Amino acid sequence: MIIRAPIVVTMDGPPINNAAVVVTENRIVDVGQFDEIRTRNTGETLDLGEQMLLPGLINAHCHLDYTCLRGKIPPQKSFTDWIRAINTQKAELSPEDYIASIKDGFDEAKRFGTTTIANLTAFPELISQVQLPIRTWWFAELIDIRAPEHANELVDSAIESLRRARPEPVLSEIEGGAPWGLAPHALFTASRNLFHLCENISQFNEILLTTHLAESREEMEMFRDGSGPLYEFLASIGRPMDDCGNETPLGFFLGAPGGRALPPWIVAHLNELTEGDFDLLERATSTFHVVHCPRSHKYFGHSPFPFERLRSFGFNICLGTDSLASNQTLSLFDEMRAFQKEFPSVSAEGISQMATVNPARALRCEKALGQIRPGFEADLIAVPCSGSTDIFEQIIAFDGPVKFIMMSGECE
Ligand SMILES: [Zn+2]
Repeated sequence: MIIRAPIVVTMDGPPINNAAVVVTENRIVDVGQFDEIRTRNTGETLDLGEQMLLPGLINAHCHLDYTCLRGKIPPQKSFTDWIRAINTQKAELSPEDYIASIKDGFDEAKRFGTTTIANLTAFPELISQVQLPIRTWWFAELIDIRAPEHANELVDSAIESLRRARPEPVLSEIEGGAPWGLAPHALFTASRNLFHLCENISQFNEILLTTHLAESREEMEMFRDGSGPLYEFLASIGRPMDDCGNETPLGFFLGAPGGRALPPWIVAHLNELTEGDFDLLERATSTFHVVHCPRSHKYFGHSPFPFERLRSFGFNICLGTDSLASNQTLSLFDEMRAFQKEFPSVSAEGISQMATVNPARALRCEKALGQIRPGFEADLIAVPCSGSTDIFEQIIAFDGPVKFIMMSGECE
């Protein structure tokens, strides 16, 4: 099939005017100017009219479990209060509620042009009951705060569930390892032993790892100073607090001074960094991928995200929506706009990369997803051409459901 559009935004060089993309089965086989494409290819032409074609968006951090909590938790005085509030909400939910929530989340993400999602779930045992409408990397979110002695069993049973829930065949043909991973929740809820276990498994199985790190001031206070609301709360529920009062969250995560060889971590947040932390990052021998969630960040009122400094150190920075317990929609267009408000000096093209090329790299799929290139998966979306001069500004300004979506070569 030949898909014709006035503009094709390949994310692989400048956008092409009066262009077309050729799709055979699930792959892109050719892209270029329409006239040239026509001479090189035969087949039916689908004309998108006044819409530009771009790669489907990739959400690098999400928790679809909590789609049903949209609007349920108003912003709290402290991060710790928010944890208490979400725990209260979660106590009311049944497995059926979570399954419905995950399904609604997939539908919403897709409606807004997301074709790939990195989704953390606290309930890996439920995912075999969910059909995948978009490409999904499931991450089992692991918390062993109440039973650190059972970390092994926790990890084993999560892996069993993840392996059992085979993705749809058509969505599993991506090169680059298994489409699932492990997510020790955070340094304050997952033991050091649990982090080590996950890192060891990732080395042998080539799976991805993700976690929440240095998200809130209270996390910094807890680890560095051994005090504050998060410290008090976790001490009160029986967490051993002997790892607090010495290091910053990042220092704790990186381990020995000078860092260590890191497996492929995708680190969400990284808002709270001291000057000492920046020194550690500058000297670290290996980097990791970073996900910023602009609207969730605003909801919590975290310290400014140090985008420029992290970028200058060579970190691959991606966008995510986080969950609807701290956000309003699962639209990455909304997220790109929020990022632009926060960082007006970053180019619209650079922002678009944070929802396409960069997360593809974080998921180790940079040779299959996030660009319109021959050999890549045909995950495509179209948004209206609005007439603004900058094509990437037009993309970021798009607000609404996406009318054209192609998943793995199939028009929806
Ligand atoms: Zn999160």
